[in-house]
Amino acid sequence: MIEFKNVSKNYKGKIHALKDVSFKVNDGEFVYIIGPSGAGKTTLIKLILKEENPTSGVVLLNNKDISYIRARKIPEIRRHIGVVFQNFRLLEDRNVYQNVAFALNILGWQKKKADKRIKEVLDLVDLSDKEKSYPLELSGGEQQRVSMARAMVNRPKILIADEPTGNLDPDTSWDVMNALIKINQSGTTVIMVTHSKEIVNSIRKRVLHFEKGVLIRDDEDGGYL
Ligand code: ADP
Ligand code: ADP
Repeated sequence: MIEFKNVSKNYKGKIHALKDVSFKVNDGEFVYIIGPSGAGKTTLIKLILKEENPTSGVVLLNNKDISYIRARKIPEIRRHIGVVFQNFRLLEDRNVYQNVAFALNILGWQKKKADKRIKEVLDLVDLSDKEKSYPLELSGGEQQRVSMARAMVNRPKILIADEPTGNLDPDTSWDVMNALIKINQSGTTVIMVTHSKEIVNSIRKRVLHFEKGVLIRDDEDGGYL
C-alpha cells in the first residue's frame, strides 16, 4: 500500500514540483503516472523511494509514515521496491544470468536457492532461452526485460517502472508490457511512469495524471485523453 496525504514538494529556488497531492494505491494495483515533462512524476517516484522528503504532507508505505524512519532503515524499505529505468542500466560485461544474479549475490543467497529463483524470474519475463547472452546481443525490449527480472528477483511487493518503453520501438514495447502485466498478475503492485498514449489507451488501467505538480485526474481505467 502506497499513500500520499497532502504531499507538497518544493525544491530550492521555490520550484513547486508537487502541490497538495493525495492518493492511495492498494496492494496488487497497476497504476500509470502520466503528464508532461516537469509535471512532477520523477519527484513522486523519488518520494516513494525516499530519495527525497516531502516539504509538507506524508508518504505512507504499508500504513507507515516513511518521513520519520532512520537513515539506516532506508535500504530495507528499498529492498521491497523494485525499480526499472528507461535506459536499462545493465552490466555489459556480464551475461543475462549474471546480471540477474548480481542483485542476489549482494544479499548472500544460497547458490541452489538463487539459481532456482533466477530461472523463475527469467521465465516470468520470457527470457529463459537468453541466459548466456550479453546485453549488447539483445534487442532493447529484451534488455528491458532483463532489467525487470533483476528488479523482481528479491520478490519486491512494488515494482516502479520509470518510462520502461521510452527507448523502445512499438513492437518490443508490447513484449515489455506483457511482462509487466504478468508481474502484476503475480501479485506485485506496478507503478508505471509513461508518455505513451498508445499503451495507456489500449491496456486500460488506473491513471494518475499530473500537470505542473497537481494531480488533475485519478481515473480507474481512464486512458490518456
Ligand atoms: P524525465 O524524462 O524523467 O521527466 P527530467 O528531465 O524531468 O526527466 O529529470 C531528469 C533528472 O534531473 C531527474 O532526476 C530530476 O529530478 C532532475 N532534475 C530535473 N530538473 C531539475 C532541476 N531544475 N534541477 C536539478 N535537477 C533536476
Ligand atoms: P517530471 O518527471 O514529470 O518531468 P520532475 O519531478 O522531474 O518532473 O520535475 C518537476 C519540477 O521540479 C520541474 O520543474 C523540475 O525542473 C523541478 N525539479 C526536479 N528536480 C529538481 C531538483 N533536484 N532541484 C530543483 N528543481 C527540480
